[in-house]
Amino acid sequence: MDNLTRRRLATRAVHSGLRPSQGDFVSTVVPIYQSSTFSYRRLQDLDGVFAGTRSGYVYARYGNPTVAALEGAIALLEEGEAALAFASGMAAIHAALLAIGARAGSAIVAAQDIYGATYTLLAELLSSQGVQVRFVDINDLDAVSLACSELRPVALIAESISNPLLKIADVPALAEIAHRCNATLLVDNTFATPTLIQPLTLGADMVIHSVTKYLGGHGDVLGGAVVASSERVEALQKVLKLTGGNLGPQDAWLVLRGIRTLPLRMRQHCENALQLARWLETQDQIERVIYPGLPSHPQHALANRLFGDRGYGGMLSFELTGAGQEDVFRFFETLQLCIPATSLGDTCSLMLYPAHSSHRSLTPEARAHIGISEGLVRMSVGIEAISDLQEDLSQSLKAYRNA
Ligand code: PLP
Repeated sequence: MDNLTRRRLATRAVHSGLRPSQGDFVSTVVPIYQSSTFSYRRLQDLDGVFAGTRSGYVYARYGNPTVAALEGAIALLEEGEAALAFASGMAAIHAALLAIGARAGSAIVAAQDIYGATYTLLAELLSSQGVQVRFVDINDLDAVSLACSELRPVALIAESISNPLLKIADVPALAEIAHRCNATLLVDNTFATPTLIQPLTLGADMVIHSVTKYLGGHGDVLGGAVVASSERVEALQKVLKLTGGNLGPQDAWLVLRGIRTLPLRMRQHCENALQLARWLETQDQIERVIYPGLPSHPQHALANRLFGDRGYGGMLSFELTGAGQEDVFRFFETLQLCIPATSLGDTCSLMLYPAHSSHRSLTPEARAHIGISEGLVRMSVGIEAISDLQEDLSQSLKAYRNA
């Protein structure tokens, strides 16, 4: 290490703080390695990392120790061999599909009520590049099977709990169908999180997360991740190195911090959502409540089989009786505690209007086809006191009709 005190000011300004001594202590939390490049005392080692003959870090687009710590944590949660972090959930989905082989002449079969941006990525961007995409009702296993045998897709993609209709994917059955046709099964586990289900242990090949949601958990970060076998993650890393949708170290550190309370938070999200869903079902102003924990949910038995006693998630949807866009807007404006905002998985309760946000890019016909009506509201139930949430919804359900 150079003795900087003998250097000129311009040199000191540039070199001070670089390569600090680690001393004889160990930090208990992984540091934020806010560095875009990494150096080695012996150039041979740097060369070895570039060549892949030894592990290490050379450049942040190829890897970063803080981000690697997050990747290790997510792989551990999902019981996967390896994981790769991305700048957003959408960057993760796009890279995963590219790595699997989505290109002109290939095909993809997808759940029809998948997250709006994923739907549009498939229906417009990838379709325009020559990928044949077919959307199917993921709970109609015969239709999924038929689509897979007709198209021989490279990928079958579904959400373990779908957005915003909260359909449950029968992961073991989908894995069997996908593998019969040599397709890779991708499961977006953002809504359920590994506290409810670990799709890789049930036959899925790749798990995707928008870590923006429950894994981060505090509404202050954007990120994504893919978990899979080491071999698949290696192929994915080649895509990431070229496309560069990397997660930054500060964001990775925030998600790592969020993960530490994930099981605790999820327990409360699930408990609040179940109580609220049961209460909403008794309200006159509500046409129907969609929540996997309710016996009225079409896949309630499947949810019990897949999730055991771990809960049904923190997301619920409901339809305001006879409501159109103006009614929903008034309902949102009369809320005093729940926040009308997009995204989910935050500690506070968020209310979203799918027709105008997550599924805005779909035509009204496409929305109607998959069951997203003009009166549908999606709620990400937070971890507030349940009595306060109930009180807020109760006053808003009364107030919006009189506003
Ligand atoms: N998957 C699901 C189920 C989502 O709800 C979202 C975003 O809402 C995404 C993927 C995309 O994640 P991001 O917004 O982090 O790109």
